[in-house]
Amino acid sequence: MDIQALIRDIPDFPKAGILFRDITTLLKDAKGFKHTIDALCEKCADFKPDYIVGMESRGFIFAAPMACQMGAGFVPVRKPGKLPSEAYSVEYALEYGTDRLEMHKDAIEPGKRVLIVDDVIATGGTAAATAKLIELGGGELVGFAFLSELTFLEGRKNLPQVPIVSLIEY
Ligand code: AMP
Repeated sequence: MDIQALIRDIPDFPKAGILFRDITTLLKDAKGFKHTIDALCEKCADFKPDYIVGMESRGFIFAAPMACQMGAGFVPVRKPGKLPSEAYSVEYALEYGTDRLEMHKDAIEPGKRVLIVDDVIATGGTAAATAKLIELGGGELVGFAFLSELTFLEGRKNLPQVPIVSLIEY
């Protein structure tokens, strides 16, 4: 199945010069969405994760069903101030300014195998910040999985040295 054909390209969103990869057209296609989750799970089988971590908010859409299918737990990484219990917080650089991501301190027990999942890797800043949260929590990062990768931005170079899976390369 051609998953890429189900992703819609929106020029100049959210600002001029960005070609936004809109996954809503993939998600509403029942067979396409199921096939995407199946393909990601198949490619990630060897990671044998105890936990799959997804980043707010589009990471949740892929990480949660993968966790169910792979028999792993799902852990959300959220924007600041959203988590109710004590959380680790990591600041990371954006094109202009900085942002933060947070994860509950008791979300991942030391030594547990963790897979990080998001819809797109662009510069890798979001995924690298999430990897730092896993490190703070004492988890063992075993890999990253992305639906798509903007290869020209070379985001992989900003990630720790663990295997990286992606289904689509732009
Ligand atoms: P980055 O931290 O630069 O790797 O950006 C990754 C985050 O931004 C992901 O959570 C994506 O959802 C989003 N993102 C970045 N660029 C795009 C794009 N061209 N189309 C859709 N989402 C994007």
